[in-house]
Amino acid sequence: MAELKVLFATSEVAPLIKTGGLADVSGALPAALRAIGVDVRVLVPGYNPVMSQLAQHGVAATFDGLLGFPSARLLSGKMANDVPVFVLDCPSLYQRGGGPYQNTSGHDWADNAQRFGLLSKVAAVLGSSASPLNWHPDLIHCNDWQTGLTPAYLHFAQGAVPSVMTIHNLAFQGIFPPATLAKLHLPPSCFSINGVEFFGSLSFLKAGMFYADHITTVSPNYAKEIQQEALGFGMQGLLTTRRASLTGILNGIDTDEWDPASDKYLAKTYNNTHMTGKAANKEALQSKLGLNLEPDVPLLGVVSRFTEQKGLDLLLEIAPLLTKLPVQLAMLGSGDAQMQKTARDLSHLYPGKIGVVIGFSEELSHQIEAGADMFVMPSRFEPCGLNQLYSQRYGTPPIVHATGGLVDSVVDCTAATLKDGTASGFMFSGMNAENLFDAIQRAVDLYHDQRKWKALCKNCMSKDFSWESSAEAYRVVYLKVLGR
Ligand code: ADP
Repeated sequence: MAELKVLFATSEVAPLIKTGGLADVSGALPAALRAIGVDVRVLVPGYNPVMSQLAQHGVAATFDGLLGFPSARLLSGKMANDVPVFVLDCPSLYQRGGGPYQNTSGHDWADNAQRFGLLSKVAAVLGSSASPLNWHPDLIHCNDWQTGLTPAYLHFAQGAVPSVMTIHNLAFQGIFPPATLAKLHLPPSCFSINGVEFFGSLSFLKAGMFYADHITTVSPNYAKEIQQEALGFGMQGLLTTRRASLTGILNGIDTDEWDPASDKYLAKTYNNTHMTGKAANKEALQSKLGLNLEPDVPLLGVVSRFTEQKGLDLLLEIAPLLTKLPVQLAMLGSGDAQMQKTARDLSHLYPGKIGVVIGFSEELSHQIEAGADMFVMPSRFEPCGLNQLYSQRYGTPPIVHATGGLVDSVVDCTAATLKDGTASGFMFSGMNAENLFDAIQRAVDLYHDQRKWKALCKNCMSKDFSWESSAEAYRVVYLKVLGR
């Protein structure tokens, strides 16, 4: 059988550029697919950090004023993990301060439709007979709204290959005024319910979900939830109609990057037969965040975007009560200004008990996963979630709300699941502060029974979250789409 060739189009890829889980997936899944013989190449915009990290590269193609977009070049290079990458170099659209989607004040870039319209368009060109490359993919794998227009462009292109659209988070839909359509050179006829229109606006994600040959999302449970009104964000009708072409595949993790036995950021490495090193990481984390050096007080960790989605408002609400259990709290994150302020205020009100770092730090995120005793993730919705996977691998049982991929990846601790060795965390249903508090209380009670607690931590560390089986599931989807 001919080798399967896939272009993986994404707006972020670790370690070149990362704002969240999409980057982790884009960094690890292509490598896992290559390991099972799929020739995957990544396409990503040339933001400043990407350009500065791209070591050796060649110019694979130039696009001079493609459909009125600014001129751009396609650079080809390799990521540190040897995965080939195409970087879309268009300085006027991508090389600026701030983040991939927002400026330094946290506002969306005004030209995001152009920025990700070009990314989508180039991906589609590479999957059509107009491609200037010698390498011709069999299929384009699109990710989230930023590449959502690719399936639409492919639909109207000559000699187009099929596409798969992966939803990493349905809440971000790439919505723009209807007039944007003309600037993106899509035919007016596609501005309809059977096309790119979403309640009178243009939605990149809707376009992707409508025109792609297959849709995937990042956990089986989330695939079901998004067909319901509560978590369908208005797309539930389309997703229900397309349910025969919708597959949920649980994300894996990069088990080299996230390995407590070799993690370069840790004060001391450890593994599930020698867990003693975990205590040194707790002490190091307590020192770093100015927490009291109390080895026996359970330390709760948080690494998160500060948004409504992540449910941290509930945790902040009960934080004063939690300090009385007692527990300590180590939080890293950024986002919503009010949540940042509340978190900071709490750290001033409870010095030594609540430590807060506002910002983005890869290093500290690893140190929290390792140094905390428990990891809190009370998400209102969670397509897959990665931090609860990392925390289990680091022997730090997660405390989670029963939603999305959290349900697929955490087994609630009960007498029965402790006994049969499957327990790996604490789960609560009913999204309110009281239920979160009860789950934390359950965790703290078990923590004080160190024999049982150690058994729970070992269960967590023995779970397999590698990409192997999920990569195989994506390969099956690709083959199905190609009719092979
Ligand atoms: P989401 O993609 O919705 O933000 P995930 O749990 O799927 O949530 O993935 C988040 C990823 O981003 C994880 O790798 C997490 O460690 C990382 N992350 C989030 N916030 C921060 C931060 N402030 N500093 C470092 N890493 C962070």
